[in-house]
Amino acid sequence: MSLPFSWIRPEPWGIHIVPADAWVDPSRPVPRALVTHGHADHARGGHGVTIATPATLAIMELRYQTREGASAAEYGEALDIGGGVTATYLPAGHVLGSAQILLEHAGERVIITGDYKRAPDPTCAPFAVTPCDIFITEATFGLPVFTHPPIGEEIGKLLAARAENPDSCILVGAYALGKAQRVIAELRAAGHRETIWLHGAMEAMCRLYEEHGVPLGDLRLVSDAPSKDSMRGGIILAPPSALNDRWSRRLPEPVTAMASGWMRVRQRARQRGVELPLVISDHADWGELTRTIAEVNPQETWITHGREEALLRWCELSQRRARALALVGYEDEDD
Ligand SMILES: [Zn+2]
Ligand SMILES: [Zn+2]
Repeated sequence: MSLPFSWIRPEPWGIHIVPADAWVDPSRPVPRALVTHGHADHARGGHGVTIATPATLAIMELRYQTREGASAAEYGEALDIGGGVTATYLPAGHVLGSAQILLEHAGERVIITGDYKRAPDPTCAPFAVTPCDIFITEATFGLPVFTHPPIGEEIGKLLAARAENPDSCILVGAYALGKAQRVIAELRAAGHRETIWLHGAMEAMCRLYEEHGVPLGDLRLVSDAPSKDSMRGGIILAPPSALNDRWSRRLPEPVTAMASGWMRVRQRARQRGVELPLVISDHADWGELTRTIAEVNPQETWITHGREEALLRWCELSQRRARALALVGYEDEDD
């Protein structure tokens, strides 16, 4: 008879499922990996076998050319991964294909959220609240100061800036996986039907989303624009790294915007030379993190991947058992 939960072991480079000898989101190559979603700090190439949702596997193939050893897990399907452990992938609401992983062994239930959010997102399935004993949650925005406004407000600011600058264009910095497609889908939902212009680095991922049933409307590459003038009054999406580089010189007097949860911090916006900060995040904000822990109501909460201390303190104050995990190698590529 082993100690409760001794089968699940957090190591610095990932969470080890001991009886199955498999790892969740390992930051180094392992024989068998369970991957929550396609962002670079969770999904890496080089594993022997990678178990992930079909959309995540497609994203990994596109980004890291990982095809060998791919094993698909459909949402809600209980997989026997060996050693008496069952893994079930459940929607996490973070990006296309993102999953929480429910692990069951000897009557004990552990959920590893990966990254998640509770705010609505037309590009992915919503987070499924699921009971468990141990809830391993991310805490990227785990401070009370982080509150993400409703996305409709931020999209409204973007459309207003466009209307006020008919002779310029609005250049929006957004991560190529998730953020860009969500901004486009929300613009469409707000009635914006015009061409949206893309940096070349966005194209393949947008196409992948469309192939997975997320329509994005009329998209064109900046490099295919007939002239600078043809982009006046337009909205242009580019990776954050392209906002201030030579590439943007081909655009007509761009107003620089950025879609990120970090835009809540004025200094970050200023550092990047962002004129129009849009607080749009694919992570849970403080209210979503605390509400989710309360709704899932686990015996114990393990906190990773961000600002653990404040959430740990919140758990203590609400009489919830909690601990912070010291995993390494998780950056905010995807905020
Ligand atoms: Zn992520
Ligand atoms: Zn992450």
